[in-house]
Amino acid sequence: MKYIANFSGGKDSTATIILAHEHHEPLDEIIFSEVMYNEDISGELPEHIDFIKNVAFPLFESWGYKTRILRSDKTYLDCFNHIVEKPRKNMEHKGKRKGFVMVGHCDVQRDCKLKPIKDYFKGLEEQEVTQYIGIAIDEPKRLQRLSVGKESLLAKYGYTEEMVKEKAEQYGLLSPCYNYSKRGGCWFCPNAREGELKHLRNKYNNLWQELLRL
Ligand code: SF4
Repeated sequence: MKYIANFSGGKDSTATIILAHEHHEPLDEIIFSEVMYNEDISGELPEHIDFIKNVAFPLFESWGYKTRILRSDKTYLDCFNHIVEKPRKNMEHKGKRKGFVMVGHCDVQRDCKLKPIKDYFKGLEEQEVTQYIGIAIDEPKRLQRLSVGKESLLAKYGYTEEMVKEKAEQYGLLSPCYNYSKRGGCWFCPNAREGELKHLRNKYNNLWQELLRL
């Protein structure tokens, strides 16, 4: 059995790894799927990807865990510039550029975030795998939906959302993205709240200008 933690840099998946460490749970590898804006620019906010690469991963590695960053062949710009050949509904879209991803229909999530994870697990076909998923004990509906081969250490050790945050803080592992938002995500995410967009404009004006250019 291979044990893998699917890490996003958010507090839930961070606390999951801390609990595995504290309770000597088996954990063979920690994976993180990095969405890219283009070949050179990450889709993660600079302070978040810096936190993952230079704070969280070095600490996890010092605990003896292997870490791995996965990336798709496709970037956000590939999705944005994709020419629609077979429109699902409106034939007027045929031959046009796909453009911004829409709320609830994020091609980036499917093609850039989840695909490399799926490909990675396909490559492990021969092995039995348990995936640790960061779902707190006060999220019963999400826990019920956990499929075979997936396990929540947060539920096993009775961790609520509030306790998860404290645990991550205790180890200096709360991503700086929580300073201005309750959620993480790509800097071009259609779900971004006003505060996130303000933060992008004020702190990373080069990225903001990219959005305006698009
Ligand atoms: S954070 Fe937003 S843009 Fe990024 S993959 Fe998720 S839904 Fe899509």
